Amino acid sequence: MRIQSTLSALRENWWLFFNQSTQCELCLETPDQNAFICSRCQADLPWSGLCCPQCSEPVLSEGRCGRCQKQPPAFDYSSCTFLYSHPVSHWVQHCKDKGDIRFAGHFARLMLQDPPLLTTAPDALVMIPATPGRLLKRGFNLSQLLAMQLSRGLGIPLYQDALNKQQPSEQRHLSGNERRRTDTGLRAGIRDLSGQHLLIIDDVMTTGSTLNQAAKLLRQQGAETVGGWCFSRVPGERFQAY
Ligand SMILES: [Zn+2]
Ligand SMILES: [Zn+2]
Repeated sequence: MRIQSTLSALRENWWLFFNQSTQCELCLETPDQNAFICSRCQADLPWSGLCCPQCSEPVLSEGRCGRCQKQPPAFDYSSCTFLYSHPVSHWVQHCKDKGDIRFAGHFARLMLQDPPLLTTAPDALVMIPATPGRLLKRGFNLSQLLAMQLSRGLGIPLYQDALNKQQPSEQRHLSGNERRRTDTGLRAGIRDLSGQHLLIIDDVMTTGSTLNQAAKLLRQQGAETVGGWCFSRVPGERFQAY
């Protein structure tokens, strides 16, 4: 990934969501320029440690975890910047519940400090869409805000129409109880993705089932390589039935 262009683009576009903080959100010290927490608190955040490169579950030794070796998910790789624990979990809830979208900028800036190490840059980013009802109620989709910021920061296009999401009431035609339980309402878009490398952006990866379904749909549209990049990961919750 083009780190230099990332940093210069960040400097140019950050004003959209970023309000310069004069106090660290955590300890009230003065943060560095263009930061919302001080460097010491930032170093103490729950950054992801050694993880399975495919499902992002924390592991003790390098390489894919046993589950991914036996039952690989539909996505080729994933990366989560943080573990979903304090204060990251609090910030995500605050952003969503209070509508404080300044945090979307904060999150994206932190993600860009630790981007996935990839041999080839993705052709495009893809967001996890929200249902129209959820969007109306909350007023924003955090996955979309992150993807927009990362797209600008990295200079990689964002395909906002690669996936869409239906209301649960529109899923009644689906057959099978298990499918109803696991279906998230995600549906394929109409874009031709033949041969492309796509990177899905989301705020929290819980079991990985949403990422898995999204990857399947993108492959149905022709995508060749699909990865995921999430702000945070709930450890120990991996979806069982890929
Ligand atoms: Zn601090
Ligand atoms: Zn794994």
